[in-house]
Amino acid sequence: MSEIETRQIERMKSVLKEQRAAFDAERHRTLEERRADLKKLEEMVKRRERDFIEAISADYGRRSAAETAIAEVGFMIADAKHARKNLPRWMSVRKKAVPMTLQPGNAYVRREPKGVVGIVSPWNYPMQLALAPLTAALAAGCRAMIKPSEYTPRTAELIRQALGELFSESHVAVITGGPVVSEAFCSLPFDHLFYTGSTSVGRLVAKAAAENLTPVTLELGGKSPAVIAPDFDVNEAAKTIAWGKFFNAGQTCVAPDYVMLPKGREEAFAHAVLSEVRERWPDAGDNADYTSIISERHHQRLGSLVEEAREAGATVLQAEFDTAPPQGLHVFPPTLVLNPPEHIRLMQEEIFGPVLPILGHDGMSDAARFINSGDRPLALYVYAKAKDTARRFLSRTLSGGASVNIPMLHLSVPDLPFGGVGASGQGAYHGEEGFLTFTHQRAVFEAPVWHPSRLIRPPYGKMFEFFKK
Ligand code: NAD
Repeated sequence: MSEIETRQIERMKSVLKEQRAAFDAERHRTLEERRADLKKLEEMVKRRERDFIEAISADYGRRSAAETAIAEVGFMIADAKHARKNLPRWMSVRKKAVPMTLQPGNAYVRREPKGVVGIVSPWNYPMQLALAPLTAALAAGCRAMIKPSEYTPRTAELIRQALGELFSESHVAVITGGPVVSEAFCSLPFDHLFYTGSTSVGRLVAKAAAENLTPVTLELGGKSPAVIAPDFDVNEAAKTIAWGKFFNAGQTCVAPDYVMLPKGREEAFAHAVLSEVRERWPDAGDNADYTSIISERHHQRLGSLVEEAREAGATVLQAEFDTAPPQGLHVFPPTLVLNPPEHIRLMQEEIFGPVLPILGHDGMSDAARFINSGDRPLALYVYAKAKDTARRFLSRTLSGGASVNIPMLHLSVPDLPFGGVGASGQGAYHGEEGFLTFTHQRAVFEAPVWHPSRLIRPPYGKMFEFFKK
């Protein structure tokens, strides 16, 4: 362990102590205080939009400014606004019925902040995935420590600096560092741990949290399929699937990982995707709207997935670069792989890049069987003209979330819960679900000074006979 890591670990322990002491010493934050916290966050994101665009671009080498504006800045503003508007309803006390035998009295649930929460975020949407959980934690009245990804150090530093100007360290703190720091972070006895990242690291995080009996939310990955029904025009589907797949160069947890469509239409669909690519991202090598891959290691991994598919006999179609990508950028061309065999890594691992396997199916039942034979996906997309076909398909599969006739947009509806199921995660956030993730639902029964239940005490004698009836 390096000296910096040792110092970061010491610091995070003392910040946790400080945050917990502050939480215990003060009353819970009021509605007005929480709304002010959210407003500050929202204003900061608006004010520093340019800074975020530049920092994320620098971390990626090249990240589409529009994609940062839509998926990080715009997303965050909508999320914080939604929380501010709905907070009075979310925070309100829930009255519960009191049975005759326990009357008189009041039963209700107070929605209390859990306390000090830890947030670990990945690099693919480095601002959204650090600040959206923070929005939920602040709405719930919690204090928070954030550990951003080491792959996006400039964004992490910007988040640290920007939040440092808004909040005291005993309210919101940012801890930077890689896996060693993150491992130590996840073993702290938080009141809730919120992790976004890969399924393999998610398992380690769940184990570390279990040691402290810390409740944990796991926002993980997986292979999210897009399935086209026989009644849907494959050329139409190609347009939105291409957008979902090549947005952020496929480095999106809910990007369509692979496509299934009626057998015999694979090539027509592939050509429709390639023509969409030519129109939307012409000369992808030198196109500011075509994001590069986060690191050389990730770029090489994608190359080896495609190579293995080629060696296994699959047809590979790749968009050509007219201009070579600028020196030092890890740009990977939009790539389609037709009917790859099931056993290769491309069909076993989450792709997380601009490579799209295209598979034929023998009908919707066949597609459902294929999906159900693997891990539960984070998202599922079904394209069908008839609403019934789409809904029937949803009722025979299971995924964290789903969108019909378009990819990814279920994630952008602020009132919908977002989360995985099985290997793609547990727990959820966004909207009220996010508020509840960081909230303890505290049950209270309020009795008057003299309550008839006082009569139920030993010796029970006849009373016992009465209750047995
Ligand atoms: P990752 O798991 O490598 O890293 C995520 C975070 O975990 C980073 O902050 C990292 O420092 C930390 N970490 C690394 N090793 C650790 C360890 N041993 N113990 C504790 N923490 C550790 O993930 P990534 O590569 O940054 O992100 C890509 C993955 O995240 C993909 O699988 C993607 O699908 C998933 N993802 C999921 C969502 C979602 O909302 N469900 C969103 C974005 C990304």
